Amino acid sequence: MKVLDLIFNSLLDFVFIYECEICHQHLEDRKMIICFDCLQKIEKVESIDIEKSFKVKFGENGFVKKAFSCFHFKDEGIIQTLIHELKYQNKRSIGILLGEIVGNSIKDDEDFLRADALIPVPLHKIRLRERGYNQSELIAEGISKVIGVKVNNHILFRSRNTQTQTKLNFEERKENVKDAFFVREKDKKFVQGRKFIIVDDVITTGSTVNECAKALIQSGASEVLALSVAIAG
Ligand SMILES: [Zn+2]
Repeated sequence: MKVLDLIFNSLLDFVFIYECEICHQHLEDRKMIICFDCLQKIEKVESIDIEKSFKVKFGENGFVKKAFSCFHFKDEGIIQTLIHELKYQNKRSIGILLGEIVGNSIKDDEDFLRADALIPVPLHKIRLRERGYNQSELIAEGISKVIGVKVNNHILFRSRNTQTQTKLNFEERKENVKDAFFVREKDKKFVQGRKFIIVDDVITTGSTVNECAKALIQSGASEVLALSVAIAG
């Protein structure tokens, strides 16, 4: 078997030239997607107290206990390019890689490690059919590889195909996703007393993640945390 793998991999390397998604230089390791130089250039989030900002923004309607984002989302930045390719160019492996980076950043944080499941922000079934995959689920799979918490994509659902949030302000976003997520009656028993981590690609106002958390808490979850690749604004 090993010999076959080796031949197959050498064949792949021979047929395809793997290059960095950003600077297009040749990649030695095809699993990397972007080169080490580009990876080093991405500015990481040093210390934003996202937890506090959720409380400030949502007050008593804040349902996320703790949140962490790995990078700043900047227009025309490396992270924007990668997330765009992940969402619209079918570059699924980018999701796994970004997830692994997020996972490595929180792998010593007991709060996250003790969660019962990672729950990707669900896409509406129409959007899911169009895209063929949920980018947040791929990110969650990457995180799961590092911290060992399992991904659960059949507990939280989206009831409305909400309009794209890009051009909306805070109040409009809050309204746009209000009550857009739900847990089915038959799954509430499973949710009861459990601790979950919502996974999103980019957190902007936090409205989406907060609505996901609300649906879980109101269905009996004991705690909801959140992880995202990037934070915008
Ligand atoms: Zn590069």
